[in-house]
Formats: sequence, structure tokens, C-alpha cells
Amino acid sequence: MIYSFEKGDPRQKNFLTFLADNNFDFDRVEKDKTVFRVFGQVDEKQSARLEELSGGVSNPSPVFSLFDDPAGAASQINRTILAGPCAVESEEQLEKTAGFLAGFGITYLRAGAFKPRTNSKSFQGLGRKGLEILSDVASRHDMKVVTELMDRSQLDAVSTFADIIQVGSRNMFNYSLLTALGAVEKPVLLKRGMAATIDEWVQAADYIRKGGNENVILCERGIRTFEPRTRFTLDLLAIPVARKLTGLPVIADVSHAAGHSELVPPLALAALAGGANGIMIEVHPDPESALSDGLQSLDFNQFEALFDQIKMSYGTRLRDLPDQAASR
Ligand code: PEP
Ligand code: MN
Repeated sequence: MIYSFEKGDPRQKNFLTFLADNNFDFDRVEKDKTVFRVFGQVDEKQSARLEELSGGVSNPSPVFSLFDDPAGAASQINRTILAGPCAVESEEQLEKTAGFLAGFGITYLRAGAFKPRTNSKSFQGLGRKGLEILSDVASRHDMKVVTELMDRSQLDAVSTFADIIQVGSRNMFNYSLLTALGAVEKPVLLKRGMAATIDEWVQAADYIRKGGNENVILCERGIRTFEPRTRFTLDLLAIPVARKLTGLPVIADVSHAAGHSELVPPLALAALAGGANGIMIEVHPDPESALSDGLQSLDFNQFEALFDQIKMSYGTRLRDLPDQAASR
């Protein structure tokens, strides 16, 4: 959470006392205003008190919270769709996908160049070549690049080509990677670890924020439960809970949770209805031939059908989430 004061505002004193009395972890940044960045979780009571003490000036997140939206309507929440194949496989595959998605007004192209695969024999991604293809194709269609950073050694390359840097589920606990991202001036999409609690996820985001990068977008992507029929269990309530605790935008990656293309549409609609600021969906021109995650990837017909359903419910309210994140 972020609280700002006009310089020299005397209310800062009581505010600071409250922070200290409650053992909050925070820092203070002097810009045109005095900004206090509070880390960790802030519960409802504390949040109300902090707002009061800061004269009602609080979290500058431009993304409406499900709870403080005056109309109480989930439909008021800004939303976006991030879509693309699991991995960049070839220029032709990505070009087809991007051209198709751009036709729907999708502006965020997701695809991995460095792939964290469970089996070391599986396709590991095209690496730097994949980033170059991604960047060329995205710029041809006026799209932005969302791609995963797996290791600090890839930081220069990924931050050169990505508009949003994705941290995968398997790396959510990689604190040296998160710390390095604190110094990068690009939004970071932080996936929830598949066995991480909401609190652990929120604390992971603090590693990025503490380095000075407030542009963090949280992504719920499903957690491991006892249920083997679906790949993961999308924790729908983690969406409003994480947003309430942090004020950060929260999106849902419905493909990795579903694990099967047939299960993607109901989950996408549920995540949006549950207040997600956006959804991430894997789309492939020919899922059967995909080098990774083909089973869960939508083909073009399936994507179009889902998009029609989303449009019926949300009309033109689909917006550009990361631009808002960037303007915070
Ligand atoms: C992905 O987005 O392709 C991916 C590997 O996701 P996750 O880290 O959530 O498994
Ligand atoms: Mn994938």
C-alpha cells in the first residue's frame, strides 16, 4: 500500500507513530510529495486507520477494488486480456497467432522464449532468438510483449525485449531474481507459486517493490490441491484477497490452472466475474502440434467463441491494465 502527503504536512507525525506502533515494515520516498510505502499485509482495520491518518490519501492504484467500487459492481473493474502461445516456436507460428489476436483488439502478446519445463527433455524455448521473434512480431501488430524471465543471466535480454516481465510460478520464491527486478523499470507480472500461500506471494512482491519497482501485477495461476482431474486448482478467492491486501492489480492465468482447453472458458468467465483485473490465455494456431502446453491451448475457433462470450458480458470495458500500472 502507498500513502502520500504534501511536504511538511503535520499529520505525518501521527501516521508514523501508528506505523511504528504496529510494527509495519515501510520506507519513505521523497518525490514531489512525501510517499510512505508500506510492505506486507495491511488488514482492514489498519487500512482504515492509515487512510484516516493520511487524510484519506492512500493507495494510488488506478485499478478499482472490488470492495471500494462505489457501485459495488464487478463490471466496473478495468480488465484486459493477455494472450498468445505458451512458447515462441517459430516466426510463422507467432505471426499467425499475433495477427489473429490483434484482430480482436488484444494488445498484450504472451509467449515464452525461456521455458521452465518440468521435464529436462522437453522443449526449453528458443532463448534469445525467441525474444527477437517476439519483439518483431509484436511490433508489426502494435502489441506489447509479455515474456518470462527465468534466471538473472537473462535479465538484460529479457528486459530489452519485454514490455512486461513475467516471473513464473516456479520462480516466485527466487528472491535474488525478485530483488534484481526491483531495479528494472518495467512492470513485473508475478505468478503465484503453485504451492505458495497468499501471504508468501504478497511478500514475494515486496522484494520487487523494495528495490523501487512499484509496477507489480500479481497473477493467480492455480495451486496444487488433492484434485488430480484438473491440472491445478485456480484459487478464485485469492484474487480479491490479494488485491485487498496489496492494492496491486491481480490477474488470472486460466490456462495453466485448467490444463485442458475445454475448461478454459468457464474458468475465464469465473475469474472475470470474481474481479480479476485481467486474464491470461494460451492460444495456438494448431494446439495438437504445439511444443508445449498444447492440451490447454485454445485454437482460434475456441478463442473466438470465448471472446464473444466475454464481450457479451463486459462489452467495451476491457482495458489496458499495464498502462494503468505503468502510470501509477
Ligand atoms: C507459462 O506462463 O507458460 C508458465 C510456464 O506458467 P507458470 O509459471 O504459471 O507455470
Ligand atoms: Mn504454458
